[in-house]
Formats: sequence, C-alpha cells, structure tokens
Amino acid sequence: MEIKSIGVIGAGQMGNGIAQVAAMAGYDVEIRDIDQRFVDSGLAKIDKNLNWLAENEKITAEEHRNIRGRIKGTLAIKDLKDCNIVIEAIIEDEKLKKDLFNELDELCPENTIFASNTSSISITELGGATKRPDKFIGMHFMNPVARMKLVEIIRGLGTSDEVTKATMELAEKMGKTPVEVNDYPGFVSNRVLLPMINEAIFAYMEGVGTPEAIDTVMKLGMNHPMGPLELADLIGLDTCLAIMNVLHTGLGDSKYRPCPLLKKMVSAKYLGRKTGKGFYDYSKK
Ligand code: NAD
Repeated sequence: MEIKSIGVIGAGQMGNGIAQVAAMAGYDVEIRDIDQRFVDSGLAKIDKNLNWLAENEKITAEEHRNIRGRIKGTLAIKDLKDCNIVIEAIIEDEKLKKDLFNELDELCPENTIFASNTSSISITELGGATKRPDKFIGMHFMNPVARMKLVEIIRGLGTSDEVTKATMELAEKMGKTPVEVNDYPGFVSNRVLLPMINEAIFAYMEGVGTPEAIDTVMKLGMNHPMGPLELADLIGLDTCLAIMNVLHTGLGDSKYRPCPLLKKMVSAKYLGRKTGKGFYDYSKK
C-alpha cells in the first residue's frame, strides 16, 4: 500500500497543519474546503509557517519552494479522487462527516484509504457508513500539528492490519510518533483531557477562580505547558462541546455532562482564538 499523494478535507487549523507536514514529508497534497475564503486562509497560514521556517534557516529557499509547490488548494472534491489517502479534518459533526465520506466513497477507487482526524466520533461508526470499513481509520493529529509529535491512530472494529500498518508508517514519515489505540468515545487523548477542561470551566463558572488563576495553578502547580482554559481557547470551544457531547452520549455517565457555561459560550459564538474571544480576549492580538 504505497502512499504518494494525500487529500486533506477542511483547511481550518487542523487541515492546514496536516497539509503542511504532509508536503514537508514529500507528499503531493490537495487541500479542499467549501469556500474560497477558507481555502485561501488555510494556504495563507501554511505560507506564514513556511516563511518563518525559511527566515529562521530551518529550511532552505529551495526546500521552501518545493514544499509549497506540492500543495494545491481546491473547492472541487473530484480533485482528490487520485489521492492514495484522504484525511478528513472538517468540523466535529457526525452527520457532515458521514455525508462527506459517502461522497468520497463514490468518487475514490476502492483501495483509497479514508482517515478521519475526528477528536471523538466513533471510527467504527464512520467507517460503517462507507463501503470500505476495512480501509477506514482514525488519524488524530494534535494541535498545533506542526509542533506536536503525537498522532493517535484509532482502529475501528473493521480496520484491517494492512491499513493500520500503512497509516502508522505514514505518520512516522510525517515526522510524528503514532500510538495505536482502540475505538471508544474520545479515544485516549480526549477521554482524559476534555473532562479536565470541562471541570476547569465548572470551577470558573462557580467562582472558584478567574481564568488566569485556574490556568496558573495548573501550569505552575502541575507543570502543564498550557492552562486548561487557554487550551480550550486554542482547541475551539465548539470542538470542546462536541467532544463532551460524544463522551456524555457514548459513555452514558453524568460525570461527562458539558458545563452549562461552555454551552452558553458556544451559543454566543465565543469559540476561543478562532473568533477572537473565549476565556481570554484575542481581538487585539
Ligand atoms: P476548524 O473550524 O478550524 O476547521 C474546519 C474546516 O472545515 C472549516 O474551514 C470549514 O469550512 C471546513 N468544512 C466544513 N465542512 C466541510 C466540507 N464538507 N468539506 C470541506 N471542508 C469543510 O476546525 P479544526 O479545529 O481544524 O477541527 C477539524 C477537525 O479536527 C474536527 O473533527 C476536530 O474535532 C478535529 N481536531 C481538532 C483539534 C483542535 O485542537 N482544534 C485537535 C485534533 C483534532
């Protein structure tokens, strides 16, 4: 199962990061979004990162040109039909993801691998909605993609050994450390991380501390590089809420109920860095 070209769907914070590291590893990349504005902003983010790497002599001018030359932005899903693997990184919505994979199922040859960067949605369920559950796998990159070493590789119940091996190798070629886990709500990463973030939001809502106090306690006291509320703003509060809903529904335990303040902030479109306001204000940065 040789992988030469990669399709990425969704040019948001995760999709543009995945496209960048894939091109830096030598793969041809097609990145698709639903609106030209989103394609352009994803490509602009990649340009900004590559410019920084070139200015700081982490890559040569020639490497810069070659990497950028391997990435193409598109609105047309058919441009991804010859990719050997399609990595989906659209918003955390089960129905939208299933609809997208159904469309891809009709378009792509039967040996194309489908990977989802979902943070929490069942890989078995997404794969089961396609005609190729054996070629369906979770490839969960961390944010920011270029900096974080981990890729959680999630096997659905039907995922084949061959596809798991090819995906683990791909993650390694992208300079990452893959860790194989099984499919269960939130997998390992968000089963452990998101309840902590949710609890930090409860603590803030109940007046136990300001966001600064809560984050400082966790950074200086627990040696976390970022506080839970800063991290929630980085992840996106809409994504945090979607993950808590998956944990709550999937595991059926009230300890996973999303904090009311998280729900309220998402309704108000206070989504964190991406909208300029979350637990902190980013509008002036
Ligand atoms: P984002 O909101 O930054 O980007 C999502 C992009 O998907 C948007 O540009 C949107 O226009 C696009 N999109 C929506 N529907 C589409 C479609 N049908 N076709 C093509 N593009 C479409 O979101 P994000 O933070 O990049 O998250 C993307 C996925 O990655 C989610 O499943 C999320 O759970 C997961 N994830 C997020 C993080 C994180 O820290 N934010 C970390 C790991 C995984």
